Amino acid sequence: MKRWIVSALAGAAFLAAQFLMGCSTAPVSDAAHTAAGTITVKVLNIGQGDAILVQTGEKNVLVDTSDVDERDKLRAELKKADIKKIDTIILTHPHADHIGGMDVLLNEYSIGMVYDNGMPSTSKLFLGYVKKLKEKKIERKGLVAGDRVDLGGGAVFEVLAPSAQLVKEGNVKGYKHDPNNESVVGRIVFGDFTMMFTGDAEKKEEHDILAAGSNVQSKILKSGHHGSKTSSSADFLRAVQPEAAVISCGVNNDYGHPHKETMKKYHALNIPVYVTAENGTITITSDGKTYHISFERGEKQ
Ligand SMILES: [Zn+2]
Repeated sequence: MKRWIVSALAGAAFLAAQFLMGCSTAPVSDAAHTAAGTITVKVLNIGQGDAILVQTGEKNVLVDTSDVDERDKLRAELKKADIKKIDTIILTHPHADHIGGMDVLLNEYSIGMVYDNGMPSTSKLFLGYVKKLKEKKIERKGLVAGDRVDLGGGAVFEVLAPSAQLVKEGNVKGYKHDPNNESVVGRIVFGDFTMMFTGDAEKKEEHDILAAGSNVQSKILKSGHHGSKTSSSADFLRAVQPEAAVISCGVNNDYGHPHKETMKKYHALNIPVYVTAENGTITITSDGKTYHISFERGEKQ
């Protein structure tokens, strides 16, 4: 296995600028004072879809669960990571390539609790998992911008979207949903390490997040919507200022993800991109100060 080490120290001046900006735009998170041990984020190689495993000193967290057809890959990846219990599942939105693994997880693993975007869906998969949660008495909670989910070990998931207004509108009967742009978007903060999770957010949701004025700066960006040209707007990338981006998509997928237009944008900003279809499972580890990225095969893009 090739192991590429990416230094987080990408220039003292840059870091100092980030630090100053962070102080002026947002209060320093409690996590910054309590980060201890390490955090591991694995963007799992589960074909077309998203499933990202986050392991803190205390909890196993899964952000999205892959597609129904990819459940064997999800099982294999969780086995490889020696996971038996998942304390927290965060579902970004109810499309099959994000909630498709819920059935397997609820049947075969011990699950603590589940967060989603707090909006209804008529999708059979969605209705199925909500029913099963009730049967198993597993708590389900909707997330809204401003929420902070404690991931244990000093790591926090800061929710940036959906807004309270959108959740309110989305719960009115007859509301015309736009699931990608209702994705739960948030930032993991662990000391100085930050990573942005975007689900399938497109330019509209990226714009709304920027308009809300929250701190979005993140060392690593999980590129929105599998690297689709619908997402990764120039304004969003400039605001997030990622040092690296990761894209979760399947080999030769039907959608042509990642789109050439997206890759060009990242390359124009000198942001290296790691793609599960090329690189297999991508693992990011951090001690709260620096971070390392490793992957199973190929070259970074
Ligand atoms: Zn998707």
